[in-house]
This record gives sequence, structure tokens and C-alpha cells, in this order.
Amino acid sequence: MLEEIRVRFAPSPTGPLHIGGARSALFNFLYAKGAGGKFIIRIEDTDLERSSRESEENILDSLRWLGITWDEGPDNGGPYGPYRQTERLGLYQEYTQKLLEQGKAYYCYCSEEELEAERQEQMARGETPRYSGKCCKLSPAERTKLEEEGRKPVIRFRVPENRDIIINDLVRGQVVFESNGIGDFVIVKSDGIPTYNYAVVIDDTTMKISHVIRAEEHLSNTPRQVLLYEALGFKVPFFAHISLILGKDRSKMSKRHGATSVVQYKELGYLPEAVVNFLALLGWSPVGEEEIFSMEELKEQFALERVAKNPAVFDMDKLRWINGIY
Ligand code: GLU
Repeated sequence: MLEEIRVRFAPSPTGPLHIGGARSALFNFLYAKGAGGKFIIRIEDTDLERSSRESEENILDSLRWLGITWDEGPDNGGPYGPYRQTERLGLYQEYTQKLLEQGKAYYCYCSEEELEAERQEQMARGETPRYSGKCCKLSPAERTKLEEEGRKPVIRFRVPENRDIIINDLVRGQVVFESNGIGDFVIVKSDGIPTYNYAVVIDDTTMKISHVIRAEEHLSNTPRQVLLYEALGFKVPFFAHISLILGKDRSKMSKRHGATSVVQYKELGYLPEAVVNFLALLGWSPVGEEEIFSMEELKEQFALERVAKNPAVFDMDKLRWINGIY
């Protein structure tokens, strides 16, 4: 039996919904809806200092305005969710315990100064800096001593050596990384909060996500995540990393090229249908010549195979033209 298509949009609530985020949300939504699957929202709010409920509301309002609705959330008796990582800390802890027991993760007491000194030494030897793994060898007595000194440890994942990590990305094709280039990385910070790479793996698994469709900037995080999937005995989902959005001058999209957040387009009087139509064409190309599509048509026609590898170009004139037609 074919697995159900389940995708997610996982914004960090650290600001308004940007054009790039809205496009990721839309591609996920269209992919799920075209396949009769489910679209889930997960608020990645583990960066406690930068996250706010105000940003979360802005993101959700912008999604609703665009007509992007979600299918699931915690059972809170009202309209669904969304899920929030800060409400799932107990779940991450359970898995951390297992990794520690199996020797796949360990406590690290190194201070920032010690880590920096290590980096400097490695660079002086002409090596690429990465954590040496020295805390992995601490005896229980040494650990107790460090704890008594008041050091608060982080938890690091033990990266297996000499492994090729092969990602068959649905947009980018095969991408190969070497595990030796990745040092043992932090999965739980000293305050007990999981890092992005760790929480995302547990969440995508427990939420039964079949396809992870997200921005290209996360491709370099993917090998870390794949190693965690394997260590936890989880099935690795399909990945599709969608290209950057550039301005017309081919530099990274910024305020110079037009408003960057969805709410600004709403305030400027653009129609949500036009913005959706415009966003869909940022990296995806339809089969024929037609460029004007309703959300229903987009759900039918959207296909990951027609998402381009090369950067999408943000063209305000095109948005104005589409908006004029609506
Ligand atoms: N919270 C991440 C971000 O906003 C999402 C990462 C992901 O989709 O895996 O960039």
C-alpha cells in the first residue's frame, strides 16, 4: 500500500512570514492537497530568546490570508493547533535518554573558551576545525568532578566515522556528504532545550512526515539529520530542497527588491489569489504556456518534478501583472 503523503511547514516564529517561507508553505500545501495528503504546521520555537507569540500569530494570519490551511494539531478542543516544539520537550527527553544509554550521545562539559582553543590548535595544524570528542572519554568520576564545579553540560551526538551520507533529493538529485566532515554536534543545549537538527528529526518522525520540502539553506543540515534518523532507528523521509529566491539583479532577495513579508502585500492591497499565483511560479513551472492559476488548479497541477534546481527570480512587475489580471 502506498504511504500517505504527509508534509509540514515548520516556521521559526522570529519575525513575520517572509516570501520565501510562504513559498515553502505553499509548495508543501499544494503537494499534499494534490495527492490527497495532509499538511501540518509546526512552530519551531526552541530559540526562546528570538521566538514570540506575536510572530507566530503573524505567520498564521498570513497563511490564513493566503488560503493555506492545515489539517492537524494538538487536540485542544478548538480549531487545530498548531504544534509547538516547546510543548513537546518531554518527548525529546525520552529519545535523548535512549541515545545516552546506547552510547550514541554523551555529555560535554567544554566551555566556549576551551572549544575555541581547540579550534585554533586544529587550524594551526591546517585541519578543518571540528569538535575533538574528548568529553566522550570522561570517566564517571571525572564527570562528577566537573558537575561539582558547577559546569552545565550540553549533550552531543556521536557522529560515526568514515560514512558517506547519500541524499537522493527530489529536486537536487543525489547529494553526497562525508561524516568525517561533521564533528560530534550538540543535540541538547545546557538548558535542556533541543537544537533544531535534533528536534526536527523526532518531530518529523512522530508526525509521520513522508516528504520534507524546505528551503535549500537546510540542505547542509540534512546529513546531520540523516545520521540522527539512523541512530534513532527511524525511517528517513524523502527530501526536496527548493532553491533560493533572488532579486532581479541576482543578488539575495532583500527589501531593495520589494516587500519581503506577506503582510506587507496584504497591506499594499494585493489580492491573496494573485500572491499565491505569483509564489507558485517562483521555482515551479507549469506544463503549458498558461500563467494564471487558481488555488484549485495549482493543487491539481503542482509537481515536485517541475520545481527548478536553479534560483527563482523575484520580479515585482510580474506580481503587478498577475494582480492586475485578478
Ligand atoms: N524552522 C526552520 C526554519 O524556519 C525550518 C526547518 C525545516 O523545515 O526543517 O528555517
